[in-house]
Amino acid sequence: MQNYRDNYKERLSRRLGEAVKETCESAELVNFRETDTGFYCDFAMPPINPAIFAKIAENMDALRSGTDCAHSPGGAFVPDGASEPDGAFEPDGVSEPDGVSACSPACALESFSGVYGEEGGHIARGEGASGREAPESAAESKTKAQDPAAEGDTRPDRVLQRIYAAAFESAGELEKYRLFTEESRKRDHKTLGAQLRLFSHSDEVGQGLTLLHPKGAMLRWLMESFSQAAHILNGYQWVYTPHIGRARLWRTSGHLDFYADSMYSPIAIDGEEYYLKPMNCPFHIEIYNSETRSYRDLPVKYAEFGTVYRYELSGALNGLTRVRGFTQDDAHIFCTPEQVGKECAEALKFCLYILRAFGFEDFTAYISTKPKRKFIGEPEKWDEATEILKNTAAAAGLDYRIDEGGGAFYGPKIDLKLRDSMNREQQCGTIQFDFNLPERFGMSYAGADGARHTPLMVHRALFGSLERFMALLIEHYKGAFPFWLSPVQFGIVPVRPEHAVYGKAVLARLRDMGFRCEMNGGNENMRNKIKAFQLEKVPYILVAGDKEAGNSTVSVRGRNEGDLGEMDMERLAEYLKPMAEMGKAKCILEE
Ligand SMILES: [Zn+2]
Repeated sequence: MQNYRDNYKERLSRRLGEAVKETCESAELVNFRETDTGFYCDFAMPPINPAIFAKIAENMDALRSGTDCAHSPGGAFVPDGASEPDGAFEPDGVSEPDGVSACSPACALESFSGVYGEEGGHIARGEGASGREAPESAAESKTKAQDPAAEGDTRPDRVLQRIYAAAFESAGELEKYRLFTEESRKRDHKTLGAQLRLFSHSDEVGQGLTLLHPKGAMLRWLMESFSQAAHILNGYQWVYTPHIGRARLWRTSGHLDFYADSMYSPIAIDGEEYYLKPMNCPFHIEIYNSETRSYRDLPVKYAEFGTVYRYELSGALNGLTRVRGFTQDDAHIFCTPEQVGKECAEALKFCLYILRAFGFEDFTAYISTKPKRKFIGEPEKWDEATEILKNTAAAAGLDYRIDEGGGAFYGPKIDLKLRDSMNREQQCGTIQFDFNLPERFGMSYAGADGARHTPLMVHRALFGSLERFMALLIEHYKGAFPFWLSPVQFGIVPVRPEHAVYGKAVLARLRDMGFRCEMNGGNENMRNKIKAFQLEKVPYILVAGDKEAGNSTVSVRGRNEGDLGEMDMERLAEYLKPMAEMGKAKCILEE
């Protein structure tokens, strides 16, 4: 009984195997993997559906009460055989663990997905799934998972079926995890996005293509405005580039050789093929190459909100976090070897400045180094670049971890991850060396020695994707954005319809001062109008009635502060100045 903790996940997975077999005798467990919060198992079996999944969960439950009560030595997962909540999860989430032994390992089935082996295969999240995001892209899963057909199993009805389970050392921990996932669900950006009318997806438009509604578009505009102003104030040059480019360009860049699976089919124009861009880099390189460069022109730093299109398996699409068209806050730095240390340090400092401005404080850097086998460029260059990235992270005061051999074939990189309000680590910024593209595109500059040299190239994104970062912001703030980032900052409520005239004057005055306001001058009850703005998480609600009109004031109610009493517009603006100024970008290079 001593070491059941050591491999409790594996033991629980065997029970899952039994439960699956009871439902489908021919099922075979082909893969087991531990995750941070439990494990998943892949079974070669006919496809399952929510009803079968529910049955498996039921079987798990039955197995627990059947075998564990027998106190069979070594066979039981629960030493005391009490009402361990393992298998307690039911797709409708009804049953609750109670009266459980604190030291029993506990598990609950979470979701299932199919990893189909056939041509055009995809991962489909089960409808009974808990809404947990797929941990890896479908393409990755497909290649990693063993395909029954590839294993010599040619029975046509068999596919790879993955089942996820949460598993913890005690029922208490499982319960904590359950509360955490419940809170995550409440914060889910898809739910809040619909509730706050920020965005939607339409079958008519196509899967994974996002429609930003007025409030979502305002949020995006605020993100972009801040970021663009900050880039320009900090030495980047803004550029715009097209959404498509000739096949020749993508051949030169190597995308058609290495990245074709993620690219959409070509568009024929004048007998030539064009591709939707999966990345912005070649366009920025062409702007660089449009002029003869000297070392005196460097560094050159081009930034753009570049919308790219990448093929994602339909089953892997998820809200704003996995889409087929998204916009990167992309920049490329072209510089001399002497400049690259300073440039990386400034890029990271700038990245942290931007992310802190959006309310994030806790970061970890991951440095990926030279792959063991396939890489391009001299090993010494890799070592130097990796050293630079390490120094950069250390100088920024960041904790960093090394992913040995984890770099792309073309250069080492720093990935920045932040912790959100749910204590989840989220990937955002990247600073990535590229020893490949400058050579491929024949980039050069005249050095101080008069000879031509190849510039160093660094790719850099801070939000990563604006869509993904928007999802992160929605979940981090639970939809209650800071004042400067709120699509609507003031909700104006006239007490009665006749106060709408004064309400309009307030609205015009505040808009004139640069604030975003909406008024609800309808006939309904004042309380309902206030409630509607509260549901939209508007930070300040301004009530305007006889008294306020007489005093040229409004009665202010803050989302966080509660009742703030009467204020005139000037005092209100003064009170909110510090919060409004958080949205004002500045130059940080000399700080
Ligand atoms: Zn790039």
